[in-house]
Amino acid sequence: CRRPHPPQREPESALPVSKSIFQKIIDREIPAKLAHEDDLCIAIHDISPQAPVHVLVIPKKLIPRVNEATAADQATLGHLLLTAAALAKKLGVAETGYRLVINNGRDGGESVPHLHVHLLGQRPLAWPPG
Ligand code: IMP
Repeated sequence: CRRPHPPQREPESALPVSKSIFQKIIDREIPAKLAHEDDLCIAIHDISPQAPVHVLVIPKKLIPRVNEATAADQATLGHLLLTAAALAKKLGVAETGYRLVINNGRDGGESVPHLHVHLLGQRPLAWPPG
């Protein structure tokens, strides 16, 4: 007699199991103040702004962090930077200057496991960062 197959296990994955807050925003499950949207990304105003301009540029594809991006993500990663630069112009900080930040992993200060580029501006920003 044939034995039943053992239950299929999902392959181990570095991807987070539950939906991140950013995925819920992308899926319109929770609201956000939108600064931009296109096929590849959205940009939202940060809920806890660290500068007068603080926008997050987020890929629609779930890339948990830049450490896990692959060559297949090259166009998306470039698009995030170009979108951030376009938003800096739109939001009036391109002339005075601004900072783009990607926090990666625990020591990098990443708190949401869905890649995002911070655009910070409209005040002088100290260096080195804390
Ligand atoms: P991280 O620390 O680099 O991962 O940045 C996560 C950012 O997401 C922080 O600056 C948070 O203030 C921001 N954030 C968390 N939840 C929300 C939200 O619901 N709307 C907008 N920004 C959020």
